[in-house]
Amino acid sequence: MKRLRNILLSWIMVTPVLITLMIAYNNKMDERYIDLGDDAPISSELHPVVEKNKNILLEQADAINIDVVITVGTRSIDEQNELYAQGRTTSGNIVTNARGGESYHNYGLAIDYAIRQENGVITWDTQYDGNNNRKSDWLEVADLAKDLGFEWGGDWGNFPDYAHLQMDFGLSINQLQNGKRPAYDKNTEEGA
Ligand SMILES: [Zn+2]
Repeated sequence: MKRLRNILLSWIMVTPVLITLMIAYNNKMDERYIDLGDDAPISSELHPVVEKNKNILLEQADAINIDVVITVGTRSIDEQNELYAQGRTTSGNIVTNARGGESYHNYGLAIDYAIRQENGVITWDTQYDGNNNRKSDWLEVADLAKDLGFEWGGDWGNFPDYAHLQMDFGLSINQLQNGKRPAYDKNTEEGA
């Protein structure tokens, strides 16, 4: 009986501490995004942190003689719906599973890249090795991007998207559709 009482007592003492920690953690997580609800605008520009890291990526790739071209930045809801229709109700191949509002491109959090060859022609050939270091230029760019904090669509097992780079700031598409946006601290120029 004494043992049982001791266990009970220690739980009574530990529980408030655990609850306090959980609340603190929750508040910390909440700081990472702002909730704009129904008024949340659809971004017409890249998120500043994505923009900054995109530019760093271009510089880093240039330093190893890879000419990266950003082919898609932010995409409007209408543009996304048109793209979704492609291969379904309009001609062409299916290129996306995301309807308008379901892509990180709709929130300024994703970019697509390609590589400009020495002759000026843009290629989507993931084997191309223009800088002659026996490594795929495409994968070299993906590695640089991942080091900068991007998620690479080429790592998606079910529907790989080799041109796609995104930063989700811990937000799901569902949360974005519900008006949540990544917090941004202008002073540190970092996602909070
Ligand atoms: Zn993309």
